[in-house]
Amino acid sequence: MEKREELYHGKAKSVYTTDDADRLVLLFRNDTSAFDGKRIEQLDRKGMVNNKFNAFIMQKLEAAGIPTQFDKLLADNEVLVKKLAMIPVECVVRNYAAGSLVRRLGVEEGIQLNPPTFELFLKNDALGDPFINESHVQAFGWATLEQLAQMKAYSFKVNEVLGKLFDDAGLMLVDFKLEFGVFHGQIVLGDEFSPDGCRLWDKETRKKLDKDRFRQGLGDVIEGYEEVARRIGVPL
Ligand code: ADP
Ligand code: UDP
Repeated sequence: MEKREELYHGKAKSVYTTDDADRLVLLFRNDTSAFDGKRIEQLDRKGMVNNKFNAFIMQKLEAAGIPTQFDKLLADNEVLVKKLAMIPVECVVRNYAAGSLVRRLGVEEGIQLNPPTFELFLKNDALGDPFINESHVQAFGWATLEQLAQMKAYSFKVNEVLGKLFDDAGLMLVDFKLEFGVFHGQIVLGDEFSPDGCRLWDKETRKKLDKDRFRQGLGDVIEGYEEVARRIGVPL
């Protein structure tokens, strides 16, 4: 299946139609953005690494019973996916405090959260992806109560499956963001799971191996992503 017209040019990926009305191609670019798109740089190999990383993770999740968009890898930077009607809400699960939670609540980075937390953000760059709650999602019709319950259950299931996968590779899954959509009436995991949208620390040293290396100017950003990929067995 080949890509046809560009439907959408996102911050990190481009979305293309295909000859199948139910399928899209996601093209992972090297563009790397932070602070709601206010800072953008090109990082060599990022598109390829994230595409292959995402394909590997989505297949693990599918095997664990979580419905995903993944269909097949088409090229180093391209994947064929189910075309979802995206729900404009980001689901964030946290196992340790970091990022906006630390800024919002003034807690110390790295404290363990037991039980893990579940948060919702509206996907809206112009507003800086504001923090929202379940009643906003319902009141504005972004998703139904049933869809939200399914998204939450899948988010915690992803945490269980990937928490173990990364732990076995000597890594802490600090937090992550998921986006879901609807495909033939069912909630399906879309977008991507890669070090761009999660936090991963080395268990021993707590070295950051995710997008915080870019946000915080720590250097060796893609080298961090590649180290994670190598440790969990992603074929690059
Ligand atoms: P952003 O929109 O934040 O700039 P990207 O550059 O990653 O993000 O763009 C990818 C876009 O494609 C996002 O808007 C995302 O919601 C959307 N998307 C991801 N997966 C799918 C899918 N399977 N079906 C339809 N749209 C998708
Ligand atoms: N995240 C993301 N896209 C966003 C916002 C957050 O992928 O638009 C991810 C981020 O990489 C982290 C998790 O969601 O793994 C929680 O992010 P947080 O709320 O701490 O925000 P940040 O500190 O990134 O602004």
